[in-house]
Amino acid sequence: MSNKPRAAMHASSPDTARLREKVLDYARERMEFDPVPLDTPQTETYLREHAPNTVNSKGLGGDEALRVFAEVLAPACLSTDHPGYLSFIPTAPTEASTLFDLVVSASSIYGGSWLEGSGAVFAENEVLAWLAREAGLPETSGGVFVQGGTLGNLSALVAARHTAMTLRNGRPERWKVICSAEAHSSIKAAARVMDIDVVLASPDANGRLHGQAVRDALKTAGDGVFAIVATAGTTNFGIVDKLREIGEVAREHKIWYHVDGAYGLAGLLAPATRELFDGTELADSFIVDPHKWLFAPFDACALVYRNPELAKAAHTQHGEYLDTLTDGGAFNPSDYAYNLTRRVRGLPLWFSLATHGTSAYSDAVSQNIETANAIAQVIRERDDLELVREPELSVVVFKKKGWTLVDYDRWSSKLLESGVGFVVPSSHKGEPNTRFAIVNPRTTLKLLVKILDTMKDD
Ligand SMILES: *Cc1c(COP(=O)(O)O)cnc(C)c1O
Repeated sequence: MSNKPRAAMHASSPDTARLREKVLDYARERMEFDPVPLDTPQTETYLREHAPNTVNSKGLGGDEALRVFAEVLAPACLSTDHPGYLSFIPTAPTEASTLFDLVVSASSIYGGSWLEGSGAVFAENEVLAWLAREAGLPETSGGVFVQGGTLGNLSALVAARHTAMTLRNGRPERWKVICSAEAHSSIKAAARVMDIDVVLASPDANGRLHGQAVRDALKTAGDGVFAIVATAGTTNFGIVDKLREIGEVAREHKIWYHVDGAYGLAGLLAPATRELFDGTELADSFIVDPHKWLFAPFDACALVYRNPELAKAAHTQHGEYLDTLTDGGAFNPSDYAYNLTRRVRGLPLWFSLATHGTSAYSDAVSQNIETANAIAQVIRERDDLELVREPELSVVVFKKKGWTLVDYDRWSSKLLESGVGFVVPSSHKGEPNTRFAIVNPRTTLKLLVKILDTMKDD
């Protein structure tokens, strides 16, 4: 009997060693670009023509598969870390975090249980503890890194409802969650999955939710409200709700308080905006996405609970093959969200934090906020442009006077074609506008001004 695996693709050979070097070289080159090409989307017809039959019985061989990726597929993916990528929420991983994502990939660590991943889970928990401290939650708080804010919000709401179920006698006719009309779409998505109702509270003219509006919503909602969600930095405008007021209303009514800070909660790290987050410490749970404004690669959401035991009661999966983990009493990250098998997706952020220190994070977030304020000032000074709202964190929404959606679309396509920037049209109250979401410290004021200069009628 030979010791060689029969499955050739698991055997080490000069070929696999060479491919290893080639793929690592590719990754190195991708990291060395400054700036990385922005690239462009392609049609399916184009991709089918240029990358035909890649999945077949014989395989292409690594060289050819890598060539197809490097020459055809990768250029058809936008580089979300390009300094001119300013749409939606970009990403701007530090080199340390990207490097460590490679290490996570190479390490086959099971992140669901302490038994299997204690070292990595310990490191992830150090990061969660730092975030909890910054937010003002007690030392006994804890949680887990999940795939994204959507899953983080769902997991927190499931824990909240489970807690309400165990506390009250009898079920309400409908379970309800209160959030702002400007809350992220993922709250509504979670409500559909959970078959619960969303009661919308009205924000003020600037899009900020106040305690009084939550009180009003509680009155209209009637029975069955188990959670109140505040947004710490709306995705569209970066507006932070009145976190303390809303938290106090939640406390008064003994209702779970969840703070959705997927994008904005990182603003807590900047001295200039820290005050806006006053009251986060009242939260029963919060989320913040490292892949948005904490300079980590896709994908990661930090989900933190004031009392992790409540989340564990809601989320632990029981099964014969899992009992040995569950009964051991150790800290198993899987128990704290709607997930089981998990990548240790908090580890890239841990490595970068351990490398650079938390002050470097405050500096980077502060820099983005300064850049946002500086470009907002340029917009104020230009007669043809107008701010839609005063920026609060690092999102700047503005319009070009007289432009219709057609004008924005035409300009946006040209800008992408030129490789300078990716800035898509948006809208507010039916009026088209556009927006810069600035989370990349490589995004300079100079580049933003250059992009403004391309907004011409022609
Ligand atoms: C982006 C965002 C989400 C969703 O997070 P994903 O990681 O995209 O799933 C939720 N809430 C807010 C406020 C966000 O900005």
